[in-house]
Amino acid sequence: MTLQLILVATFGAFIGSFLNVVIWRMPRGEKFAGGRSHCPHCGEMIVWHDNIPILSYLVLRARCRHCSKRISMRYPLIEALTAGVFALSWWRVHEQGQDPVIMAAVIYSAFGAVLVAASAIDFEHKILPDKLTLRTLPVIAVAGSLLVPTIHGTELFGHDLAAGGAMKPALASLLVGLVGGLIGAGAVWTIRAVGTLALKREAMGLGDVKLWGACGLLLGPGGAMLGLGVAVLAGGLLGVAIWVATRNREIPFGPFLAIGALAVLWYREPIREFVRTVYGI
Ligand SMILES: [Zn+2]
Repeated sequence: MTLQLILVATFGAFIGSFLNVVIWRMPRGEKFAGGRSHCPHCGEMIVWHDNIPILSYLVLRARCRHCSKRISMRYPLIEALTAGVFALSWWRVHEQGQDPVIMAAVIYSAFGAVLVAASAIDFEHKILPDKLTLRTLPVIAVAGSLLVPTIHGTELFGHDLAAGGAMKPALASLLVGLVGGLIGAGAVWTIRAVGTLALKREAMGLGDVKLWGACGLLLGPGGAMLGLGVAVLAGGLLGVAIWVATRNREIPFGPFLAIGALAVLWYREPIREFVRTVYGI
């Protein structure tokens, strides 16, 4: 398992390197397929051995080889985060007994990678691109529902849709996912509407509604509510901390939703158990 985790994390770091390109180009409307990487300061091409995730940043001591301008911390950070997302996903799908397990690892990792990119873009530009929330994430989530029904199961409001062969597991799982998407988007839409009334300004963007709808597709209705709870809690705690430290109230919610989604994807049962013991629900 250790060797597998190292290999998967290394692969994740290279995917993170690609995400850095997406994070830079997508909000600027540049095409991200094709074209070699270049330094954003001097425009010089970056040769392959200066483009190795995390390592090159350390070897070059965070400076461009040509113009010596600082390389943003974001690059190694995104690479390390993505490596972690891939490794944790690989480990958790095995622990959870997902079936088929490799397909589950691919779905978790792909979904997590897109969440990393969406979070970074939201953090820097305060936008969540429709390309990610309405296209990439829903496609991965629907594929997850169909190909790995164990991700959110086939149970809807206490009834197993696939019980006694009433429905094919893939179809039952897809229906559960669709309800999760509706409930997820509806819940965030409601918070947004109430928050906007209370604060008399836009509490959060429509992008958050779309993002949580996409996450609901993969988490199912129960997971969508559970993950939203984690996101609100994390956002509340960190938001207050950031506000106290910087007086900045314009903190994007997208990264917290991503944390909530991944927390439930990886640790659904322990979180549910915690809620059950503390709140009795
Ligand atoms: Zn340069």
